[in-house]
Amino acid sequence: MKGVVVKSTGSWYLVRDEEGKLHRARLRGKFKIKGLKVSNPLAVGDRVEFEVETTGEDTAVIHTIEERENYIIRQSTHKTAYSHIIAANVDLALLIVTLVSPRTSFGFIDRFLVTAEAYDIPATLIFNKIDLYDEDIKNYQRQISHMYAQIGYPSLAVSAANNKGIDDIKAILHGKTTLLSGHSGVGKSSLINLIVPDLELKTSEISYFSDKGVHTTTFAEMFEIDPETFVIDTPGIKELGIVDIPAAELSHFFPEMRERLNQCRFNNCTHFNEPGCAVIEAVRHNEISLTRYESYLSMLHGQDNRK
Ligand code: GDP
Ligand code: ZN
Repeated sequence: MKGVVVKSTGSWYLVRDEEGKLHRARLRGKFKIKGLKVSNPLAVGDRVEFEVETTGEDTAVIHTIEERENYIIRQSTHKTAYSHIIAANVDLALLIVTLVSPRTSFGFIDRFLVTAEAYDIPATLIFNKIDLYDEDIKNYQRQISHMYAQIGYPSLAVSAANNKGIDDIKAILHGKTTLLSGHSGVGKSSLINLIVPDLELKTSEISYFSDKGVHTTTFAEMFEIDPETFVIDTPGIKELGIVDIPAAELSHFFPEMRERLNQCRFNNCTHFNEPGCAVIEAVRHNEISLTRYESYLSMLHGQDNRK
């Protein structure tokens, strides 16, 4: 049988077959990714082949993993320790942000977008809690949305509290597997509740399979909206897995800088203080947003400090 992993703890898995039925499963044998030590060989979103066995506690055995289109990984901070695959085969990364209560920083948004670029996964921003916006903040949000749209990141303005824009979210999710992220408090759970039908039922189904005493909160869960549409929630993980980007390459992950790189005088320009820099020139002429450039610099210098 074929299916997709909707929950993974590293030792056992929950697999949804093509009819939508869930199976508790184990992995046969050892699967390894070259050059990578991972704590979980399989993650949510992995497409697998499995056999259902009638005896024993675990009812299914996974024997084949299909090649991944991509996977998001959380690297261990210790060189010797294991990394954790957060999700596989992700079509879209959604970042839920708020301008009030709490206010998401541009630095955080831009780090998320850079990471999505590094994974080559399209990203969209969701501004939630618009019911709390006054006219000034509404205008401000439109400006920010316009700026991000111009560099290739669409956005939506919604309110989970007033059920506004929920159909628009469903429309962009349709037919895709989407990873949802956001700082705690931005309304991610509230939105998931509005988007996923019968969520309570599904959550209880999933927790039915949970091993007692095992902390499963840091593991991603995948929810079905319809047979072609899935959302992945990553409780406790607010960022996409950090990707190590060398300082010299950072600007490749800012689309508005990427398109200007061959106009800089030096081909190893870091767009910080070099003469003849096309990026700095574009910032001066308001063709590149100052907040984006500030995010770039703080990432650039953060990386320098780490070296
Ligand atoms: P999470 O931590 O991102 O999962 O956020 P929650 O869904 O738990 O929401 C955090 C708080 O924000 C709760 O008190 C929600 O009721 C509130 N909240 C969520 N969405 C909205 C919204 O659209 N408008 C307002 N005013 N409050 C919201
Ligand atoms: Zn430059």
